Amino acid sequence: MADNVNALPFFYGNITREEAEDYLQQAGMNSGLYLLRQSRNYLGGFALSVSHSGRCYHYTIERQHNETYAIAGGKSHRAPTDVIDYHSQEMDGLICLLKKPCNRPKNMQPKVGPFEDLKEKLIREYVKQTWKLQGPALEQAIISQRPQLEKLIATTAHERMPWFHGSITREDSEPRLQNSPRTNGKFLIRQRDQNGSYALCLLHEGQVMHYRIDRDRTGKLSIPDGKKFDTLWQLVEHYSYKPDGLLRVLTEPCPRPDGEQFVGRPLPPLDHPGLVSAIQTAADGLLSMFRAGSTSSKNRRNPSKANQNPYGPVMANQPSNKAEAMPMDTGVYESPYADPDELRSSTVDRSQLILEDGELGSGNFGTVMKGIYKMRKTEKPVAVKILKNDDNNPSVCEEMLREANVMQQLDNPYIVRMIGICEAENLMLVMELAELGPLNKFLQKNKQTSLKNITELVHQVSMGMKYLEEHNFVHRDLAARNVLLVTQHYAKISDFGLSKAVAEEQNYYKAKGHGKWPVKWYAPECMNYFKFSCKSDVWSFGVLMWEAFSYGHKPYKGMKGNDVMQMIESGQRMDPPPNCPPEIYDLMRACWTYKVDERPGFSVVEPRLRDYYYDIAQ
Ligand code: AMP
Repeated sequence: MADNVNALPFFYGNITREEAEDYLQQAGMNSGLYLLRQSRNYLGGFALSVSHSGRCYHYTIERQHNETYAIAGGKSHRAPTDVIDYHSQEMDGLICLLKKPCNRPKNMQPKVGPFEDLKEKLIREYVKQTWKLQGPALEQAIISQRPQLEKLIATTAHERMPWFHGSITREDSEPRLQNSPRTNGKFLIRQRDQNGSYALCLLHEGQVMHYRIDRDRTGKLSIPDGKKFDTLWQLVEHYSYKPDGLLRVLTEPCPRPDGEQFVGRPLPPLDHPGLVSAIQTAADGLLSMFRAGSTSSKNRRNPSKANQNPYGPVMANQPSNKAEAMPMDTGVYESPYADPDELRSSTVDRSQLILEDGELGSGNFGTVMKGIYKMRKTEKPVAVKILKNDDNNPSVCEEMLREANVMQQLDNPYIVRMIGICEAENLMLVMELAELGPLNKFLQKNKQTSLKNITELVHQVSMGMKYLEEHNFVHRDLAARNVLLVTQHYAKISDFGLSKAVAEEQNYYKAKGHGKWPVKWYAPECMNYFKFSCKSDVWSFGVLMWEAFSYGHKPYKGMKGNDVMQMIESGQRMDPPPNCPPEIYDLMRACWTYKVDERPGFSVVEPRLRDYYYDIAQ
């Protein structure tokens, strides 16, 4: 996987081509000596530098759209290391076979660019401003959407840079550069049109030179006949260490006139103090980078793959792509009661609730209908669980109230929230709406869903479960059928009918006897000792992962509960679903650790899934 390259002794990080050649030279320039470095022009790409017959050759390893890596026109591989392994056996277009890695000097870490430092601040401010989030909601948004946010930041960061002057005319740009100091190499970038073309304006011997920056059909940016880049960031960095066809290198960014803002961009307003300071920091970082003559940055992935968001932030001037709403763009990311103007109440007034035609589903209690809940400021689409009227059984009613009681105590973006209980013609539980329904059914119908998408959803479930674990709740019915989708990229845990709050000291719930249990999802200690804990939820989560990665297949197909128990007791576990990534199956197996004490909790499972998700989603 791409992230693991940092651990490779022959990976140098963000060094230039010239630095790579120096290292190969110091190591003797033997034929087939090679090193790996980060691509400085393609987001998420790498470069392979090889010596042969006293010369150095450089190959770009591009990250492709299906999360594979390949030298342009060559065979695709799962990871950059696989590209290297392959070319150690096959030349296949390379100048020679890769024979010996050129390892980093002792104590040298892979070089990290200043973008890494700026990125954190920019992401945080971006999320804060765009979605008006703070506290845990902000943290959870960043954790669950980091790969998408990084892309967004990488491809829009230039808008916050001092050298980016927006859409000013050629005539307007010249006096800005001619202002003192009239340093050779002083530069700015202006936007030429809305189709993503720019101009680089450069001061040379008192004259302003204007270079066109075009965007090709794949979204790459270049000066005519020049090197191609994914972002303006990378282009500026490249030409600041190498003229490469320009009259001179870029030396000093020409700052924008004070207080200037760009119009027509759905970015957070620039007048917010936090954002201003983030921009300032970003600008300072970049300025000091120029002053120090440093040229490195962390490259990210091709912006043409990045999402275009119809509800939230839109990347200016990127080729249009399929819309993907982030969880924060939906109306159910934060509780409706997060708005202090809305009165928090556990009861819903029937006159404020409109039930719509059409059932969302049905369960033990009765039906679930779609509705509209009129709040003080807004109207919310909701799901309403309606207790069957013909059910005179008071225990069912109690059960529903117990479920409501648990839900009321939970507030997390990855858990379906209860909005309130409505006592009217029927007892009704009003909840947030997750319109795309259960995960297993969605995946059965949508077999083209990518592994990355499934990992994203399953990771969100693990975030919700980590929250339950932290708050000492045991779900007891965690299964793909009880994960509901708000969008294809947003999952919420539902159905708290069996859930229990557990005491912190005891941390498990002991059932009085065997009930109507989802045996195939239950850990051995549930079946043998009726003991339920967050660790038994972890076991169920392993089964849920299996269901998700098998596109909604039933686990232990055709087997009876007793046979499943015997199978587990004998040490056997389900096989991986077809095409299941080994990292995911390893995690499932960890969730199915027989001994409770040895089984990981969600505090371990969630970060493992997170790492894997970031790795494949970069
Ligand atoms: P349950 O009784 O909780 O198992 O719910 C039965 C079915 O109703 C589920 O499988 C969903 O299809 C649907 N459903 C339940 N809750 C919601 C919700 N909050 N949003 C959308 N559909 C729901």
